[in-house]
Amino acid sequence: MIINPGNLNESFDMPNVERYKNIKEYCDRQGVTLVAVSKTKSAKAVEALYKEGQLDFGENKVQELSNKASGLPPGIRWHMIGHLQRNKVKYIASFVHLIHSVDSLRLLKEIEKRAKAAGRIQDCLFEIHIAKEPGKFGLSASGLREILESEEFANMEHVRICGLMGMASLTPDSEEIRKEFRGLRKLFEEIREEYFKGDAHFKELSMGMTTDYRLAIEEGSTMVRIGSAIFGPRA
Ligand SMILES: *Cc1c(COP(=O)(O)O)cnc(C)c1O
Repeated sequence: MIINPGNLNESFDMPNVERYKNIKEYCDRQGVTLVAVSKTKSAKAVEALYKEGQLDFGENKVQELSNKASGLPPGIRWHMIGHLQRNKVKYIASFVHLIHSVDSLRLLKEIEKRAKAAGRIQDCLFEIHIAKEPGKFGLSASGLREILESEEFANMEHVRICGLMGMASLTPDSEEIRKEFRGLRKLFEEIREEYFKGDAHFKELSMGMTTDYRLAIEEGSTMVRIGSAIFGPRA
């Protein structure tokens, strides 16, 4: 069988470099960080994009993240974007760049403990539930405030809170999505004012995926997490 190398990029696994470059350019122009979501894609696919200059990659499973990280250049910044179980924090605590999905005080306490053991300060975002669907993950605004006001949080020295993350409803209704992103932005600003005044690290608003990243950027996102537009076969 003859394989035309020109068609390799069309496979399900490899990134679509042209589409990637367009998205990257758009994000750069807006001053937004692009996290390329490489879940279910091979280490080879990540490497191909890394060679194009992409440094930030997102994964939603601990096992997959640590497997890929172990075989790839240490310059890659790995983002944990999926639900994180406490008993798995230890597998990524020595190297993960940013955890987007902190949704409980118990999880944050475990991250504090593991970061301390690894001699690191771990950057984290709180995941906020903004979608209409009753999802399992993400904090409410009051749940977030409860954590921020706890004595346990006040005593943590190895976690650094860099902002908030949220996922909009799965709906074609762009006004609904916009409303949800706008609400998260508002909460972000309130929380910054109330709890992180003068803290330059609290600056990230991780919102926007393949279908809604332009909307998210219009509503103030500083970090988008894009998978299928970069790696997927469809336009
Ligand atoms: C998969 C995933 C993404 C990327 O989704 P796409 O629609 O493929 O861009 C973003 N954020 C989280 C938390 C994800 O699990």
